[in-house]
Amino acid sequence: MNEIKDKILKALYLLENEKEKFSDEKFLKYCETVKTNIIKAFKERNLTKDEAKPLLNRVNKLLDLSEKKTITYEEDTKICPNCSTKNRANANFCRKCGHSLK
Ligand SMILES: [Zn+2]
Repeated sequence: MNEIKDKILKALYLLENEKEKFSDEKFLKYCETVKTNIIKAFKERNLTKDEAKPLLNRVNKLLDLSEKKTITYEEDTKICPNCSTKNRANANFCRKCGHSLK
């Protein structure tokens, strides 16, 4: 196994198994980085097409999940008109300033 493939596999493993360690934004960024690295490794012939394809599938799946999660999160929030803090959609009062959100 070459070094680059080993690195990518380790990063994918981390993303797949330790998601909770990342914030949504960081997770998305890390996925994009891994994806870029896979494509780069393929272009530089460090990965064959057969090797790169399943790796890309894995990272795309993670990106897909993460984007869905982010969208759900956005839909699920109520922005406070007073202080612009994000609150849960079912919140009656702002968790920061106590402004009524009804
Ligand atoms: Zn507020």
